[in-house]
Amino acid sequence: MQCPKCHSDNTQRLSVIYQSGTQLINTTSNTYGGGIGSGYGGGIATTNTSGTAQSYLAIKASPPDKKKFKIASILIVAGILIGWASGSLILFLLPAGVGVFLGRKDYRYNKNVYPGLREEWRNSWHCNKCGAIYIQQ
Ligand SMILES: [Zn+2]
Repeated sequence: MQCPKCHSDNTQRLSVIYQSGTQLINTTSNTYGGGIGSGYGGGIATTNTSGTAQSYLAIKASPPDKKKFKIASILIVAGILIGWASGSLILFLLPAGVGVFLGRKDYRYNKNVYPGLREEWRNSWHCNKCGAIYIQQ
């Protein structure tokens, strides 16, 4: 698989980089614990150990996240608690209504947008020479 930017053959799928990089962090977390932070700021161009370079790439190559309904559920719970404590329907409906609205938005994102992003990520390649990320089936 050739990089469309610099035509290097030194390319890898993001999913492969992510998996190998994540494993590497897990097995070397004690040894490289301090190095990860400093290596992250320094970037991949500096002469880091392979451990920190991999972990930096793994962060760069991480897959898209699903929405986790965090704010939505906090608002709904807050609405129930405030509404129950105050006995006011408005104080219940206001935060809970916004929570339901955001929850539906998150749900639609997970259902309609996320699968496309995930598919895109699966077909994404990283050039180890120039750092370009590109999509190729
Ligand atoms: Zn390249």
